[in-house]
Amino acid sequence: MRVFKGKRTTVYQLNSGKFALDGGAMFGVVPKVLWNRLIPSDDLNRIPMATHPLLVKTPKGWVLIESGLGTGWDEKFHKIYDVAEEDPFMDTPIGRDEVSLIVQTHLHFDHAGELSTPDGLFRYNAPVVVQNMEWADARFPHERSRASYVQERLNAIEGKLRLVSGTAEVWDGIYVAKTGGHTRGHQIVLIRDLDRLFVFTGDLLPTQHHSPLPYVMGYDLFPEEMLFARKYWYDLFIREKALLFTPHDRIPFAGEMYIDERGKHRLREITPDGD
Ligand SMILES: [Zn+2]
Repeated sequence: MRVFKGKRTTVYQLNSGKFALDGGAMFGVVPKVLWNRLIPSDDLNRIPMATHPLLVKTPKGWVLIESGLGTGWDEKFHKIYDVAEEDPFMDTPIGRDEVSLIVQTHLHFDHAGELSTPDGLFRYNAPVVVQNMEWADARFPHERSRASYVQERLNAIEGKLRLVSGTAEVWDGIYVAKTGGHTRGHQIVLIRDLDRLFVFTGDLLPTQHHSPLPYVMGYDLFPEEMLFARKYWYDLFIREKALLFTPHDRIPFAGEMYIDERGKHRLREITPDGD
């Protein structure tokens, strides 16, 4: 667990399980000769990934930004995704009961799986913020999105939701903004402190290696929309010197965006203020 401090808020970067996904699908139209240099694949063409939710301490209470992959997955699932389960609340200063609000970028299993137990029990006592459109699409998936939404786990959050549309302040200083691209209702989460802007990028920027604009995932349902969303948000990230938290780096990552001498968007790693 890594700690980042603002004047009013403290951000804990958690570990909620490791897994692996097909490298080609993760890098879309980028050829393997290029992406394999950034993240080498295993003999099944999978690249190592993980899930890193944020636990945010604010003057008003504790907010969880995503829950991650979590635990309790079956054997078949372990095999396909090379899962190594981790309990995100292992070494946190609080337990799940003290979380007052949960904010999800979207509801794919690697982002929302931990919210519930395998037999469909909600693990928290807090509302879950998600885009209205994301909830509807999660509950009525189509052939291409079905494998990403695990209905048995989603059953547990029915009735616990706080549905939003577009951009909204969901907690003092914590905002969500719908980006689309990955899913129709995908959103990012912005935490505005007095001296710092923290951003949980969700799948707008899945790993530190995805920062170049065309490095859009094959998993994205609307890749062109994702490109346009990135153009808008990247400008803001640079202008505001935002501290960006990526969800899926195998080793947890936080960094600031800049444009290099060749005009490419890159990330400069920022070291945590503590462990
Ligand atoms: Zn993801």
